[in-house]
Amino acid sequence: MNSKKYTTARIEKAEAEAKQLEEGSNSPVWLKAADDYVHEFLERLPDAPMYIEPAQENPFSKPNFAEEGGDMRKALDQFREHVDKTGIHTISGNMFGYIPGGNLLPAAIGDFISAVTNRYSGVFFSSPGSVRMEHMLIRWMCNMVGYPPSALGNMVSGGSPASLVAIATARDHLQVRSRDVERSVVYLTSQAHHCIHKALRIAGLGEEIIRQVPVDEGFRMKPDALAQQIEDDLGEGLKPFLLVSSAGTTDTGAVDPLDDLADVAEKHGLWHHVDAAYGGFFMLTDEAKDKFKGIERSDSVTIDPHKGLFLPFGSGAVLIKNVEALLHTHHYMASYMQDTQGMTEEHSPADLGPELSRHPKGLRMWLPLKVFGLRPFRAALEEKILLCRYFYDKVKELGFETGPEPDLSIAMYRYVPEEGDANAYNERLVEAIRKDGRVLVSSTTINGVFWLRIAVLNFRTHREHVDRLLGVLREKANHL
Ligand SMILES: *Cc1c(COP(=O)(O)O)cnc(C)c1O
Repeated sequence: MNSKKYTTARIEKAEAEAKQLEEGSNSPVWLKAADDYVHEFLERLPDAPMYIEPAQENPFSKPNFAEEGGDMRKALDQFREHVDKTGIHTISGNMFGYIPGGNLLPAAIGDFISAVTNRYSGVFFSSPGSVRMEHMLIRWMCNMVGYPPSALGNMVSGGSPASLVAIATARDHLQVRSRDVERSVVYLTSQAHHCIHKALRIAGLGEEIIRQVPVDEGFRMKPDALAQQIEDDLGEGLKPFLLVSSAGTTDTGAVDPLDDLADVAEKHGLWHHVDAAYGGFFMLTDEAKDKFKGIERSDSVTIDPHKGLFLPFGSGAVLIKNVEALLHTHHYMASYMQDTQGMTEEHSPADLGPELSRHPKGLRMWLPLKVFGLRPFRAALEEKILLCRYFYDKVKELGFETGPEPDLSIAMYRYVPEEGDANAYNERLVEAIRKDGRVLVSSTTINGVFWLRIAVLNFRTHREHVDRLLGVLREKANHL
């Protein structure tokens, strides 16, 4: 009966067309096209304008795929024109806005090879090598923050999912059930990254009480104020639950006094999560290591290799001291996975985080560390700290007002004109710099004051680039 539904002739016809996928996936010509693209991109990079407005017309407004395939180089030309040319160059040495990106070539090569080999990194059984590699990297980061060898975590795509994993784990470990949510209290500061609020909401904790603990003049959480707030909340019969501190805030680069905060968290049995998404890898430097003292006493840490380790976007990590708690929230059993259960040398990443089928995340981080070694990373991170201090002094000499002395590689500054609204003036200044295109900076508003920021975190950024930024600031401030 089934023979009605197929004939060998039909199979052969389908095969002949389907085989294009297979042949193309072995094509050295296409590899060469990719290689040429990358070469040309990197060659143009140093002088590429930092911001280009999108075209009036959206080239992607309609799906327009043909039945017949087209030329690889033509397709890549379209990608260059419609994607690569517009917006911000996150990986330029002239990038000082937001948190600059990175694109270490060995990481890109690692991604490429991981995609071609496509090992299934969700379960140990399927790719023990991928899982061992990822867990070695996680343990390396755990060791850096001073966690015990029993600690583990999960490689995810960024700091936001990393924070979500930590917060969901904290919720279950401290048994915050639905009925407890409205009485449970989270402590953070006005400078906590918004992904924490988002993670709380996604984790079903959106109705918790959120206390914004006061900060000192450097925007760091005040431990005394935290202790007092917890006492007050206990007095009201509330349930203090979670402390989220920052080891490098996005706005100002401030590192909270982690050791003093740990005292308070331990005394009251809070889960202490440290957001070190931006700042964490500065622990590799002698210059900044001491600022992180006490981080080893926390319960969980977010750290982003796609920030402080200069990897391309797609690498965040959550580190968790109590691996049982992490497993409790994320493990699962599915009957179609039954063959995979026997091997237990390492926990499977799928039991330690939200993803199942996932891009192998180890090679993009392992390969750069192998081929460069640690020394250039330490040097680059130290250089970023020093460049930020250099800028902080020089911009003052230009007559700018500055924010607090930088803890890491982010600082705030603004120009206060003799007359007129300072906020409006600085807003125009940011706009003028963006239009100019030689460098890119971004801004923030704190307590109603509009500040410009410098964030130094690109491995291509050196003193000449900071001098270029200073030159642009001098020029624009004179003109406005
Ligand atoms: C960037 C950042 C995040 C969010 O991480 P993503 O990787 O962008 O999701 C969280 N916290 C801090 C302090 C950050 O700088």
